[in-house]
Amino acid sequence: MRSFFRDVPMELWRSYRWQVQNRIKTKEGLKRFIELTPEEERGIDMTEGLYPMAITPYYLSLMDPEDPLDPIRLQAIPRVEEVDEGVQSLGEPDPFREEGEIPGLTHRYPDRVLFTLTTFCAVYCRHCMRKRIFQNGERVRTKEEIDSFLDYVRRHEEIRDVLLSGGEPLSVSEEKLEYVLSNLRKIPHVEIIRFGTRLPVLAPQRFFDDRFLDILERYSPIWINTHFNHPKEITEESAEAVERLLRRGVPVNNQTVLLKGVNDSPDVMLELFRKLLRIKVRPIYLFHCDPVKGAMHFRTSIDKGIQIVEYLRGKISGMGIPTYAVDLPGGKGKVPLSPNYIVNREGSRLVFRSPLKGFVDYEIKECY
Ligand code: SF4
Repeated sequence: MRSFFRDVPMELWRSYRWQVQNRIKTKEGLKRFIELTPEEERGIDMTEGLYPMAITPYYLSLMDPEDPLDPIRLQAIPRVEEVDEGVQSLGEPDPFREEGEIPGLTHRYPDRVLFTLTTFCAVYCRHCMRKRIFQNGERVRTKEEIDSFLDYVRRHEEIRDVLLSGGEPLSVSEEKLEYVLSNLRKIPHVEIIRFGTRLPVLAPQRFFDDRFLDILERYSPIWINTHFNHPKEITEESAEAVERLLRRGVPVNNQTVLLKGVNDSPDVMLELFRKLLRIKVRPIYLFHCDPVKGAMHFRTSIDKGIQIVEYLRGKISGMGIPTYAVDLPGGKGKVPLSPNYIVNREGSRLVFRSPLKGFVDYEIKECY
C-alpha cells in the first residue's frame, strides 16, 4: 500500500497533517515517484496557473506506476484535454449557477442550503465540478463570511438541511469547524448537517484523530456524503476511516461520478458497489458527469449510465444500486434515470422485462 513511501515511519504516514504537508504539487515532484508519459507532462505544463495539481502521498501510493491509464492517475494527474478548446467548448465554469449574493452560499431547494467552507482540497480531482473555485488559490472562508452564512440560515426558517462542502470542508481547523457546527446547532430549524467530503478517499488519515471525531460526534446528527469512484480507492485505510465515523454515529453515503476511462464499465461499477457495501458505505447516487469546463473529456453518454445500472440489477442487492441521475444545468435539480422494464401495456395488463431474463405478464388489479 505505501509503495513509494516505505521509509516513512507509520506514525507520520497515519498523520493527516503529514499527508497534507507532503502533497506533490509539481511535475518534478511527481517524477520522483512515477515515470510520466509525455502526455501527462504536457498536461501538467499546460494546466499550470489554471487548474492546480496536488496529490497526497496516500493517494499517489494507489497509482500504478506502469499504467498511464490507471484510474487513480486519470483522476489526479492533469491532462492536455483539460485545456483543449475543442473538447471543452461546450462546458461552462459554473453550469449550476451556484454563485449567489453571499459568497459560497447556494440556496436551490427551499429546505436545503449549500455552503462552501474553503477552496482547499487535499487532492485536486481532475473531474471536479467546482474546478473554477481553485483558480484563485487555497482559501478558507473568513469569520465574517461564515457569519453571513449563519445569519442567512437563521433568517430562513424553511432551511432544515445544511450541506457543507468545498473544496474540502473537513480540512478546516478544528476551531473553525467547531465554530460553524456549534452555531448551526443553535438554530432550532436546522435538523440535519451534512458534509460533502472526499477525505475518506484522498486522505483517510483525517479520521484517525479522536479529537476531530469528538467534534463531529458532539453535533450529531451529522451525515457524510463521500465520493469513491473506483474499487482501487477502497483500502484498509479508507475502511478504517469509515469504521471510525460509524462508531461515532456518523453515517457515510457515497456519490460516484460516471467518468470515461475511470469507471465507465459495468464490472468496475459492480466491484465498486460490492466493496462499498463491505465497508458499510451505501452508494446513493451515480451522477452523470456535469458539463463543467475543464472536465468535459470525462463525459460519457447517458445510455452508458443506464446500461450500467441495468447490469447491476440482479447482481447486487438493491441497497448497492445507486440512483443514476443527471444534475440539470441552471440549478434546475436532479433527474433520476433508470432502465425501462415495462415493454407493453394493454389496459390493466402489463408486460415486464425481468432483470433475471425473460418477460412476465402482470395483471394490475386495483382493490377498492
Ligand atoms: S475533493 Fe471534491 S471538491 Fe475537491 S477537487 Fe476533488 S471532487 Fe472537487
